[in-house]
Amino acid sequence: MDDQKEKTLAQKKREELFFSPKNGYDRLAAGEEEKIQAYCEGYKTFLDAGKIERECVDYAIAKAQAAGFRPLVRGEKLQPGDKVYRNNRGKSLLLAVIGREGLDQGAVIGAAHIDSPRLDLKQNPLYEDKELAYCKTHYYGGIKKYQWTTIPLALHGVVVRRDGSTVAVRIGEDPGDPQFTVGDLLPHLAGDQAKKTMGSIVSAEQLNLFVGSRPFNSEEGSERVKLGILALLQEKYGMVEEDFLSAELMAVPAAKAVDIGLDRSVIGAYGQDDRVCAYACLQAILELTEAPRRTAVCVLADKEETGSLGVTGMQSAAFDIFMSDLCQAQGVPLKACYEASLCLSADVTAAYDPNFAEAYEVRNSAFFNYGVSISKYTGARGKSGASDASAELVGLVRRVFADNGVIWQLAELGKTDQGGGGTVACYMANRNIDTIDAGVPVLSMHAPFETTAKLDCYMTYKGMKALYTC
Ligand code: MN
Ligand code: MN
Repeated sequence: MDDQKEKTLAQKKREELFFSPKNGYDRLAAGEEEKIQAYCEGYKTFLDAGKIERECVDYAIAKAQAAGFRPLVRGEKLQPGDKVYRNNRGKSLLLAVIGREGLDQGAVIGAAHIDSPRLDLKQNPLYEDKELAYCKTHYYGGIKKYQWTTIPLALHGVVVRRDGSTVAVRIGEDPGDPQFTVGDLLPHLAGDQAKKTMGSIVSAEQLNLFVGSRPFNSEEGSERVKLGILALLQEKYGMVEEDFLSAELMAVPAAKAVDIGLDRSVIGAYGQDDRVCAYACLQAILELTEAPRRTAVCVLADKEETGSLGVTGMQSAAFDIFMSDLCQAQGVPLKACYEASLCLSADVTAAYDPNFAEAYEVRNSAFFNYGVSISKYTGARGKSGASDASAELVGLVRRVFADNGVIWQLAELGKTDQGGGGTVACYMANRNIDTIDAGVPVLSMHAPFETTAKLDCYMTYKGMKALYTC
């Protein structure tokens, strides 16, 4: 009897004291599973519509305009509830909903990126070798190069022709479209290749995109296959070879977003890093029907995968100028706004992979179906490069999430000294904005086909919405 009592007491204490998170599916509110499914259908549409940053911006602007957003005019007066955006050169987008409180009380910022690892065509790409035509590529972002061989690829981007006109390219997405591929050596002849290390199994200069093999319809002259390809490009896009010099063309996986698993609990698609968080932030701000307490800002940034540099990256003054234009409309100094602001750097993290358990530290890993994953810090080798969010900030976000039924977890990316990663968080924090990382755990991150759990995708959106309205 006494034994029984003591066990009960221990049980009670255990429940009271231990942190023992449960699978998100055991914690969902009634009716929430339907909301997850509906949300993820929209997310998959977004993934297929916008495979590169330019297409994401186009998609987001169309949705924003439909939701009542208009381009911000410098110098205009802004009222609570006004919805404005600025298109930064077609590659990044800034949106805001003006709050009831002034910008001296700060803004709530969700910052995600819409660029993903891929194979960019070089500026002088097209060549013929042994009567096969290829395009040279220069990979963009951190990839395992061998993963980009022997899969169907599509070609996206723009060509600026000599007369200054721009033509959009999107080949390999519509039914019946031709697609492209990068080859690999057959295993029968891979004796030497098998001895190489991962980075050189397929070298960067072997990532050549196959584009054709039929000679131009004439028996004379050299490079007839290349000529045939150029003739097709001229016919379709009115371009000549020199126009490649002023083009941005990128090979991306041609596969569409799909449900994965018999239970359809997971989404498989290219470029979920970080379009999964970009969609979450975008949806959250588009759904703000009335003025939030503090001004809500959504940033869809470019160039995160190469260090956030350049005019469309998060380090660009484009963000500061947008914010200062908002502040000017209220006569608030930008610095006052920044120091009172809060930024959620919405980017993905690594989900625990039981097949590669040795790369993770299980007590501090993110798991599928445990919700949006907060990272106090990122970085590598002793937190180098990290924007370490304060305990106070973690406490605030944790409270907002808990109060709003957001299922969340806290994790870091892999075990210490295994590697690491970064986000835009440090560039926001350097602006004197309190910033914390949070996002969706991903399996096979940076592979041509990444997977995420639907519950986590939805909870990231729900979390962002809770912050916008807190
Ligand atoms: Mn990312
Ligand atoms: Mn990434």
